[in-house]
Amino acid sequence: MAKIFCVANQKGGVGKTTTTVNLAAGLAKVGQRVLMVDLDPQGNATMGSGIDKRTMELSVYDVLLESASVTEAAVLSEKCGYHVLGASRDLAGAEVELVSLERREKRLKTALAAVDADYDFVLIDCPPSLSMLTLNGLCSAHGVIVPMQCEYFALEGLTDLVNTIKQVHANLNRDLQIIGLLRVMFDPRITLQQQVSDQLKAHFGDKVFDTVIPRNVRLAEAPSYGLPGVVFDPSARGSQAFVTFAQEMVDRIRTM
Ligand code: ADP
Ligand code: MG
Repeated sequence: MAKIFCVANQKGGVGKTTTTVNLAAGLAKVGQRVLMVDLDPQGNATMGSGIDKRTMELSVYDVLLESASVTEAAVLSEKCGYHVLGASRDLAGAEVELVSLERREKRLKTALAAVDADYDFVLIDCPPSLSMLTLNGLCSAHGVIVPMQCEYFALEGLTDLVNTIKQVHANLNRDLQIIGLLRVMFDPRITLQQQVSDQLKAHFGDKVFDTVIPRNVRLAEAPSYGLPGVVFDPSARGSQAFVTFAQEMVDRIRTM
């Protein structure tokens, strides 16, 4: 049975896409069968997995509108070792098209149920908003992974996200929980980051993942080669941290 996780945070530029593609590559590396779903119309996770969103035949858009199954629309990224259900620009229109449809927030959930036996992990990269797309992600998932930078305003943004997740849990998806907060782009030389990291642990306890992802330029360079850092430069500190994180996720779901 596949465990399904959303990578979400209402803020943009906090490391959602970097986390999704590198965790997917890390999980593939430790032997897991992985499907990466790109729910952001920008398609960064798609391109960053070596799949060209401009030439892709079918995408998550077709799956949401029920004109294709996940099996039909997903493609294997050979270099990365995982399957990609990609996003292209037309996904931005899905937002409006879904509004008038039945079961509009459960379309992805229904579609993923058909591939439940094919994967160990499904990772969903969410856009930076609480849109119908994000709602489809949250309704499909067993848990949410929240990447965050250890900055002062990060804590404020977290309150909104926690409330959103509570509402979805109460009204739409009883399974949903925050699996953990992942500290990303971490620089231990910055005192404020250490302080916020300590506050996070005090507040959220073991909901904070043990693994910390350092700020590492190789992770930022990798997307321009159409690869996750883990594949582009496996020896980089950031890449190694993501493989460690993948192992931490494998260990966590055993106790879930
Ligand atoms: P989001 O999907 O939340 O908008 P991204 O994953 O696209 O965020 O990250 C935003 C920017 O930060 C990108 O340019 C990315 O390459 C860079 N970045 C993300 N994580 C790291 C890291 N650990 N070290 C250095 N740069 C990073
Ligand atoms: Mg993104």
